Amino acid sequence: MNKLMTCIECPKGCRLTLEPDGSHVLRVSGHKCPKGELYAKQEFENPLRILTTSVLAEGLTLKMIPVKTSQPIPKAKLLEAMEQIRRIKVQCPVNLGEVIQANFGNFGVDLVATRSAQKPKVS
Ligand code: SF4
Repeated sequence: MNKLMTCIECPKGCRLTLEPDGSHVLRVSGHKCPKGELYAKQEFENPLRILTTSVLAEGLTLKMIPVKTSQPIPKAKLLEAMEQIRRIKVQCPVNLGEVIQANFGNFGVDLVATRSAQKPKVS
């Protein structure tokens, strides 16, 4: 059975029709450029997502530090990734863009802070 999806690679939002064969895509139609075909195949065969969430902080100006993966990871691994996120506790000051954990979860991507957190000033 054909599957419909909308390409999100650009604002045109082409409506794509996929002809699957099991877990693979035989044909894609409806795309107005090659990006649409690539997007449809990736999204059907191995969808990827950038994980954006927060990790615990201790002794810093924030209780939770917002983070994201430096690259998308398989959508099917998001729950596993969140299990690992729950075990992280940041105790040293971090700056925006700083790597919190290199090769996060062996996914081949880094976990990066999207906000800075410092030690509180003592007055
Ligand atoms: S198929 Fe190409 S033109 Fe259409 S939405 Fe995707 S990127 Fe844009």
